[in-house]
Amino acid sequence: MKILVINSGSSSLKYQLFQMPSDHPLCAGLVERIGVAGSDIQNHEQALQQVLNSLSTLGFINSPDEIDVVGHRVVHGGESFLGPTIITDEVKAQIKALFSLAPLHNQVSYTCIEVAEKTFPTAKQIAVFDTAYHQTLPDYAYRYAIPKKYYTGERIRKYGFHGTSHKYVGEQAAKYLGKTESKIITIHLGNGCSMAALLNSKSIETSMGFGPLSGLMMGTRSGDIDPSVIFHLLDHKGYTPADVNQLLNKASGLQGMAGSNDMRDVHRFAAEGDAEASLALAIYAYRIKLTIGAYAAVLNGLDAIVFTAGVGENDQLLRAAVCRDLSYLGIELDGVKNGQYNKEILEINRPEGKVKIMIIPTNEEVEIANQCYEMLHDK
Ligand code: ADP
Repeated sequence: MKILVINSGSSSLKYQLFQMPSDHPLCAGLVERIGVAGSDIQNHEQALQQVLNSLSTLGFINSPDEIDVVGHRVVHGGESFLGPTIITDEVKAQIKALFSLAPLHNQVSYTCIEVAEKTFPTAKQIAVFDTAYHQTLPDYAYRYAIPKKYYTGERIRKYGFHGTSHKYVGEQAAKYLGKTESKIITIHLGNGCSMAALLNSKSIETSMGFGPLSGLMMGTRSGDIDPSVIFHLLDHKGYTPADVNQLLNKASGLQGMAGSNDMRDVHRFAAEGDAEASLALAIYAYRIKLTIGAYAAVLNGLDAIVFTAGVGENDQLLRAAVCRDLSYLGIELDGVKNGQYNKEILEINRPEGKVKIMIIPTNEEVEIANQCYEMLHDK
C-alpha cells in the first residue's frame, strides 16, 4: 500500500511517500513559495501537480492511480474528530464548518483535499487532525471559567494542537520506558511551541488552547499573556483587533523580543552581548520549566520528559537552561550526553536522575501514515 502524506501550510507543502508498512519514506520533499510574488507555483493545485511530476520523474510511481491513500494533516478537528477519518462530503462540510475556529489553517487543508481528490482520483483521502489527540482532556482541563453557553454555543474551549507530534514522541517514549503505565511530559519546540502531559499515553493537559497562541513563548507568538493587555491596547492605545492579532501572532515571541524567530540567531545575538536576546532566551526556558512543574503536579509524578522538534532536538543550551535546578523533581541532565544528539532517540539524564530526559525526533508524517494504515487494517 502506497501512502502519500501531505502537510500543507499557507505557502509551503511538505510531502512524504511511504510503501507501508514502514517508518521510512521512499521519498520526501517540500514545495515552497506557493502563491508568493515572483514564484512559479501560483496555488496548491500547481504544488500538488509538481509533487506528482516529481514522484513520476524519480520513478516512484508511473501513474497517480498507484497512490492508494493520501493522508492529510488538518489542523482543527473541533470536537468531531477523535482519530483518522476517511474524507467524505460530510467530513469536508465539517472541516469547512471549522473555518471560523482556524481560518488560515483549515482553509489551506480544505483546498489541498479538493486538489488531491482531483490529482489522485482513485486514492482514499484520509484526514488526521492536530486536535484529535487532545480530545482525552478532562472537562476541568478543557473548559474555560466562563459561562457554559460560550462552550455549547460558541464552541469555546481548550482544543490543543501539535497532537500528532505529541502522540508520536509520547508513544516512542512509553515504548522506550517499557512500562504499561507511564507519566510523560512532551515538549514540542518548533516555530510553534507546546507541551502535553500524558498519562498512560493519553493527553490529559496541554499548553495551547482555543487557538495556537496560548502557553509557551514561541518563534513569533507571545504565548500566555494577560487578556487585560489586549483591552488596554484596544481601549487606550488606538489598536484595532487586527493590530493586536498581528502583534501577538506575528510580532512577539523570539521575533518580537530579539528580532529573529530563529533560535540560532537569538543565541548569536545573546552571545554578542544583546541583553534583550538573553532575556528572551531566559523567558523561553522559564516558561517551559514552569509548565514542567505544573504538569508534574497534574500527573502526580513523572517518568520522563521528552524534547522534540527543531529547537527541542537541536538546542542543547536551551535544554540545559530548562533542566537546571529541577533536581527536586528528579530531573538531572547529563551535560555530555546532552551534546550527543544525532537524530535518533537519546537518553540524556544522569544515571542517578529518577526521571528520564529524552530527545526524540518528531515525525508527523510517519505518524500520519501509520494512523492511516492502522485504520484501514482494523476495518
Ligand atoms: P516548524 O514548526 O516550522 O515545523 P521546526 O520544528 O522545523 O519548525 O523548528 C524550526 C526552528 O528550529 C527554527 O526556527 C530554529 O529556531 C530551530 N532550530 C533549528 N536548528 C537549530 C539549532 N541547531 N539550534 C537551535 N535551534 C534550531
